[in-house]
Amino acid sequence: MRILVVEDDPDLNRQIVAALGDAGYVVDKAMDGEEGHFLGETEPYDAVVLDLGLPVLDGVSVLEKWRRAGKKMPVLILTARDRWSDKVAGFDAGADDYVVKPFQMEEVLARMRALLRRSAGHATSELTCGPMVLDTKSARVTVNGTAIKLTSLEFRLLSYLMHHGGKVVSRTELVEHLYDQDFDRDSNTIEVFIGRLRKKLGVDVLHTIRGMGYCVSEPDNAK
Ligand code: CA
Repeated sequence: MRILVVEDDPDLNRQIVAALGDAGYVVDKAMDGEEGHFLGETEPYDAVVLDLGLPVLDGVSVLEKWRRAGKKMPVLILTARDRWSDKVAGFDAGADDYVVKPFQMEEVLARMRALLRRSAGHATSELTCGPMVLDTKSARVTVNGTAIKLTSLEFRLLSYLMHHGGKVVSRTELVEHLYDQDFDRDSNTIEVFIGRLRKKLGVDVLHTIRGMGYCVSEPDNAK
């Protein structure tokens, strides 16, 4: 899952980026509204953390422009103290949730998990596929109740496919959502990671759809 953080306070920006990175997300950052708007319009993010008080272009305007351009990714806005009018303006502009400053980082992480889950159509933190369970809260994967040890990239890859369970995800899409913008991307490595994941999971839930991409589904529905 790839997330954009738009926040002009350098310390806060760094803290949010670090917390999301530790939680296993790929994170890009922007320090003003114009840069944030550009990234959100050109890169395919799974979610955005957007401060409303931003230099150059304010957060509400950024959000309005994204929504007008048809960008549908879930957006969590950061609002100052208890400016209720900011929240209203934010929701009217297309925000999905908000956190009031100052906040506990845990709250941002919990709200982000819920936003990503809901936008993928899941109601709980546990995503299940046959004998495999991926807990988005603890970032753990089990198969038939046994914990499987995965590297952070393997987890990200599996998590993205699980969030889009049943749908075919192309290699290009995976590359775009698993690496940040500065990463030297090579879509051939995806095949290698899929192979490793299959071996570690030991169950037939990761399917290659020739010429199209990959899909997670129960062993019985193997294509
Ligand atoms: Ca600000």
